[in-house]
Amino acid sequence: MIAAKSFIFKQTQQDSFNPEVNALTQNKPINTTIRFRHLSPFLDKDGILRARGRLEKSQLDYCIKHPFILDGNHPAVHLFIGQTHKDNQHSPRQHLKNILQNEYWILCVRAHIDKIIKNCYDCRRQQATGLQPEIPPLPAFKFPEDKPFPFQQTGLDLFGPFASKTAGNYNKRYGVIMTDLTTRTVHLEMCQDQSADAFKNTLRRFFARRGQPAKTVFDNSTKFTAAKKELNRHFDADVTRQFYANHQIEWTFNPAYAPHFGGVWERLIKSVKDSFYAIIGSQILTDDIFNTVLCEVEHFMNARPITTV
Ligand SMILES: [Zn+2]
Repeated sequence: MIAAKSFIFKQTQQDSFNPEVNALTQNKPINTTIRFRHLSPFLDKDGILRARGRLEKSQLDYCIKHPFILDGNHPAVHLFIGQTHKDNQHSPRQHLKNILQNEYWILCVRAHIDKIIKNCYDCRRQQATGLQPEIPPLPAFKFPEDKPFPFQQTGLDLFGPFASKTAGNYNKRYGVIMTDLTTRTVHLEMCQDQSADAFKNTLRRFFARRGQPAKTVFDNSTKFTAAKKELNRHFDADVTRQFYANHQIEWTFNPAYAPHFGGVWERLIKSVKDSFYAIIGSQILTDDIFNTVLCEVEHFMNARPITTV
């Protein structure tokens, strides 16, 4: 079989590289313009044209050190590439190239492999895509009214508390997760405590950096209902009332006993907490590091793929 293969390839070399083979047989210099001159071709003891390459002193097999030089345009070589493709489970381009280069230096091998794979019936059938249906327009809820921008429809929830140490004192700090209900983009803020002022400042930071949402939905958790009561107590104060009026904050709570309404951010909170604890472990952080870790988790969350990749 090996002898038969060598015989066939020798014939293809006679067909494709006749002037070069003749020149080398007569120990004459070969044409300097040929495509494979950089391979330093030579004839082995059987008169087969091989590449000298640079691996001569390695321990590799002779065939790998000095591969056959073949012309991919020759019909026999073309058939050989096709058969190698089939014999190796219809291997893709790079894999097939590696297999061939173990023994053969085929000129313009990539172009020939592409042509063979493109015309391979089995590969075409395997990779065929069905008739694509006409893609319908996206549903209306994907597009917030008027000017769309991130966080126009925002869901909010608190998570925590986390222990924080500042100037030797232990405090409870909360995380606030704001998520865009359309794209699930996440913004994280630290809330100093559950007081109305701390929560208002958290919202101010969020609005300043992300813009004013047209609608804000709060999770119906005890933390928020407590915060709302607290806020209502302060609501008479002119400054607080003006703040909520100016920012058109709509206190839309999820219905009670309907946790599926907040499924969007409940799942995100789990991811945030997983990442958060993965980073901090059981350490007690300072506010500065707490904020830094929140930013890192936010970046990590927003870099996640929208779907499986
Ligand atoms: Zn194939």
